[in-house]
Amino acid sequence: MTATPKRYAHFIDNRAAEAGDGGTIPVMDPSTGEIFAEIARGSAAEINRAVTSARLAYDGASVADGAWGRFSALERGRVLRRWADAVDAHAEELAQLESRDTGKPLRQARADAAALARYFEFYSGAADKLHGQTLPYQAGYTVFTVREPHGVTGHIIPWNYPMQIFGRSVGAALAAGNACVVKPAEDACLSLLRAAELAAGCGLPAGALNIVTGLGPEAGQALAEHPGIDHISFTGSTVTGKRVAQAAAEHHCPVTLELGGKSPQIVFADADLETALPVLVNAIIQNAGQTCSAGSRVLVERPIYDAVLERLAEKFRALVAGPASADLDLGPLISPRQLQRVGAYLHEARAQQIHVLAQGSIASDAPAGGCYQVPVLLADVPAGHRLAQEEIFGPVLAVTPFTSEVDAVRIANGTPYGLIAGVWTGDGARQMRLARVLRAGQVFINNYGAGGGVELPFGGVKASGYGREKGFEALYGFTTLKTVAVRHG
Ligand code: NAD
Repeated sequence: MTATPKRYAHFIDNRAAEAGDGGTIPVMDPSTGEIFAEIARGSAAEINRAVTSARLAYDGASVADGAWGRFSALERGRVLRRWADAVDAHAEELAQLESRDTGKPLRQARADAAALARYFEFYSGAADKLHGQTLPYQAGYTVFTVREPHGVTGHIIPWNYPMQIFGRSVGAALAAGNACVVKPAEDACLSLLRAAELAAGCGLPAGALNIVTGLGPEAGQALAEHPGIDHISFTGSTVTGKRVAQAAAEHHCPVTLELGGKSPQIVFADADLETALPVLVNAIIQNAGQTCSAGSRVLVERPIYDAVLERLAEKFRALVAGPASADLDLGPLISPRQLQRVGAYLHEARAQQIHVLAQGSIASDAPAGGCYQVPVLLADVPAGHRLAQEEIFGPVLAVTPFTSEVDAVRIANGTPYGLIAGVWTGDGARQMRLARVLRAGQVFINNYGAGGGVELPFGGVKASGYGREKGFEALYGFTTLKTVAVRHG
């Protein structure tokens, strides 16, 4: 007999807030296809309640009354530090929840829970180190700058790394003194609702953090349009990001856009292949390829092209997809819709005689209702082909040869995206040249950090978005700069 799905409410004012007229949305376990929970389907009404709650917390009169906007930087840091410890103490519970909700293998979900704690730890320490400057000006003046929070910030989160993206975004926004309203993805939000409950037990006052669950075109759109939102941090697809930026522009609201990618890894003939090969494979199968910064294109210098393909093929044939709890090489995709989307790309590849060089397998005991996609290695993909240009968001690697450094840079930079890039070469001068000419927000030389690095500013150029999250840099994005000029004679 199937258990009754557990019901999850919104989190507003430090309490569970039941679904309003919108009803609920079923939550599916991608490993089995089973509906195991339901979330509230928020609308403009719940978004408005959450924004009102955040505004009160931000504008309140005193710390004693729980006014987050009045907390000193030190006090904000201490709350975040306690929250980091609480997440650490509940890491296994959070990982199990995230793993079931998204289908990601348990070890990845555990790494994500650790990253969530680490973001809060990092921003707890950073909160009281964010400051302005004094500026030279005319005689008789003292001029200084002050970094101030925006006020109420909106956070729209995708389903692929809910804990990590929530941690980096909300951690930095709260450290800077903002009150937050979060709209997680309808496909994966359970870990965030639990993390918010933990925050309430760590001294985060009511209203400083609110979560409204629901669909993008409903709750998400209402958040982007709400005139009470002072800044929006959006992480998701390029198409939706554009829509969010347009809605925000109507009320002069600044936006940070963390969007998709088609990130290249360039392998030169002098590369250390023993180190590079496992990284090339992991960068596309991590989270079943559903990573914005997945290394989804590998460009290989002609003299070693056949040898690299052969070794990649051997590794791909050994990869096995299976249920999240089995902790295999990769889990299922997030949903039947995503499975169909990836399948359509592969169908096109076969129809157009793109060379499917190797593929992995699905564990024989994987439940029939799960959203499993075998990892696929495509060889000789022309640089201009859709499979080498568009974000597939699945475990599909496109390999393309190049003939020279100039050729490699042209191909690497030749997509609409510019999120991250990897370069594998022993030549120091070439490392520096490529670090400078590759159009991407991050360049990794002889390593590749898909999604990693709490301390490292992250974001894109071109269709991959603008603004930076992570690291200290994120704090600048979650504050606005005021210049004060004092004429004293
Ligand atoms: P998506 O754009 O469909 O959804 C992202 C979020 O936006 C969800 O919460 C969704 O409910 C919401 N949304 C949808 N329509 C909306 C609307 N009209 N108004 C406001 N909000 C709306 O993306 P997805 O499929 O959930 O995530 C996958 C995408 O996210 C990929 O393109 C991936 O590259 C990108 N991503 C980027 C980063 C990064 O940091 N650059 C990180 C993770 C994922």
